Parts: sequence; C-alpha cells; structure tokens
Amino acid sequence: KIEEQIYLVTGGAGFIGSNFIRYMINNYSHIHIINLDKMTYAADQENLCDVKKNGRYQFIQGDICNRALIDTVFNEYDIAGVFHFAAESHVDNSIEDPGEFFQTNVIGTYQVIDAARKKWMSSPFVIKPKYSNCRFLHVSTDEVFGTLGDEGLFKENSPYSPNSPYSASKAGADFVVRSYHSTFGLNVVTTNCSNNYGPYQHDEKLIPTIIRKAINGEKIPIYGDGKNIRDWLFVEDHCKAIDLVFNKSVAGETYNIGGFCELTNIEIAYKICDIMDKLMPRGTLLGSHRDLITYVTDRPGHDKRYAIDSSKIMRELGWKPQENIEDGLMRTIRWYLSKYKAKNEVGVI
Ligand code: NAD
Repeated sequence: KIEEQIYLVTGGAGFIGSNFIRYMINNYSHIHIINLDKMTYAADQENLCDVKKNGRYQFIQGDICNRALIDTVFNEYDIAGVFHFAAESHVDNSIEDPGEFFQTNVIGTYQVIDAARKKWMSSPFVIKPKYSNCRFLHVSTDEVFGTLGDEGLFKENSPYSPNSPYSASKAGADFVVRSYHSTFGLNVVTTNCSNNYGPYQHDEKLIPTIIRKAINGEKIPIYGDGKNIRDWLFVEDHCKAIDLVFNKSVAGETYNIGGFCELTNIEIAYKICDIMDKLMPRGTLLGSHRDLITYVTDRPGHDKRYAIDSSKIMRELGWKPQENIEDGLMRTIRWYLSKYKAKNEVGVI
C-alpha cells in the first residue's frame, strides 16, 4: 500500500491551480490536498465544485503573506510537498498597480518557502530525517526571460530580463526559491511555463476575452498590430509536466515548459473566431466572428515574442505536450459556452 501524502497547494482556486488539484485528486488515490488561497478576484470556488466533495481535499482561505497562518498549516499537517501557484498573475493589473504583485509574488513566496525550510530543516543543508523526501515546487513563467527577436528560444540558462512588474515580481520569486536551494540546501524545483489556456481561466485573460466577446457578438479587442507572439500550452499538459518535475527531477533543477505552438495574437483570435463560426454561426447578414476584431492601443512594455525550448523536460523526464491547439481550443470554447449557458448568459448554443 502506498503511504498517504499531504500536499500543500497555494493559489489552488485560480486557473492552473484548480486544474492541477483536479488532475492530482483524479490520478492519485493516496494524495490529500490542502488548498491555501486568499480568494482574490481571480479565484473562484466554482473552479473546484467537483473536487470540493472529495474527502482528500481541504480548503483554507488565507494569504501566503500571513506567516502565522502558514506556520500553523505546517505545524498542524505533515506537509510532504508544496506546489506554489499563488500569485497575482495579470500583466495589465501589474501596470495599473504594481504593489500587490511584489507583495504576493516576492514576499509571499519568501514566507511560504521559509516556513517550509523551518519545518523541514534543522540547519543549512541538514534536512530532518522525517522530511527527507519533502520538496517545494515553484510555478513560474517564461516571461522572466523578457522578450525575443524573430529568432531563438528561451532555454533554462537564458538570462533573466523581465520587463513588466508582473514578470519582475515572478523573477524575484524565482531568485528567492533558487537561493533557498543554494544557501540552505532545501529541496526545490522550478518550472517556467509559457501561456496556458483551457477551462477555468479568469475572464480577463486573452483567450477567455476573445471567446466571451465572440459569444456576445461584441468587439474583440486585440493589442497593437496583433503581431505579438506567444507560445500556447493546454493547461492539462502543464499539470502533467508539474507532476513529472515534482516526482522525477533532481533538486535545484529548473525546467522550461512550452507547447511548441507559437502564434501571433491575431492568429489565436482568428482560430477562435473560425471555431465560433462553426459552433454559433452569426448568419450571412452579420458575417464571420472575425469581423468583430478591433485593434486597440498597445500595452506599455508589451513583449514582442516569447518562445520556449522544452527539450530538457522532454529529454530528461519524457514529457511532451499532448493536446494540439485546434482540439484544445475547441475543448476550451465548449467549456466557456456551457459555463455561460449554465449562468443563462448565452441564448442559443
Ligand atoms: P490565477 O490568477 O488564475 O490564480 C492565482 C490564484 O492565486 C488565485 O486563486 C488567487 O486567489 C491566489 N492568490 C493570489 N494572491 C494570493 C495570496 N496573497 N495568498 C494566497 N493566494 C493568493 O493565476 P494562474 O494563471 O492560475 O497562474 C498560477 C501560477 O502559474 C502563477 O504563479 C503564475 O505566475 C504561473 N503561470 C501562469 C501562466 C498562465 O498562462 N496563466 C503561465 C506560466 C506560469
């Protein structure tokens, strides 16, 4: 019989965290998950409506910056590992109001990892025998590497060059985590992933915005000339990668995770519009959903191109993205359609 394990997931009521909790609960019967989430505007309890009833899932509402609370969690439960997702994650908000980004993403990360160190280690490089297998996995982004020209890919050893307060705060968090391995010998691993898409993403992000506007027949806003390039990964593929890195990699390693799926923002918008034309035709009078696209003033400091080299995780851990963009978008759009239908926000599907 496999020994039962309790894992702490921070930020598990958000987009990727909720997908990850569902993935872990469904795939491992020996795992208990404690989800610590502040429930900011980006969180939604509905993201976990199916998981909530599971006896192996527990929710604690709280802030990762609240050290007393984090210490209590570590003292009350024998946490065997941390999956650290909690963050302020929307670049536009970080331009409007950067403070919360540095507070949560940098200081919050420090509070959680320092609590783990105090619980799991007796002194630098000495892990208490009981906690010898405990690991801290930090979930980060490819945006820490800054922007690329037409050529090249971000590799794990690419220099950090963040441009937005969001990416700068995530870069700061990555360095906090790195230092806890170098200085204390804490068992940490970091993942830097490209743009995720899929069910349960907050309405404010690019793909849900395009879908929502298309469903409602409203103008679809695209920044600048629409030629900024992002690499897209279906969220379940990210969850599988996190699971692999947590269970199979060596302490101190970092892994880039991407979908080998570079698309300009306008290409993504076209793909969504074309699927919407099939699922909800607007009729000859109104034309294609593509006609709803409208260009808006670019975001300041908007990185031109992100592209990620995932060859290390593929080679070392045997990971590879499984969902192609067409099928992934179809699944995502269908999910949003049923969400809005359930809320009576869509007339005809
Ligand atoms: P999200 O905004 O959907 O969810 C973040 C969650 O963190 C929310 O539930 C929120 O309530 C919680 N949270 C925020 N501040 C908190 C605090 N102080 N204490 C406790 N909980 C707090 O974000 P997401 O898209 O799911 O991203 C999750 C992680 O993955 C982040 O660390 C993000 O940087 C990283 N990431 C995201 C992407 C992407 O494309 N979405 C790509 C790569 C990496």
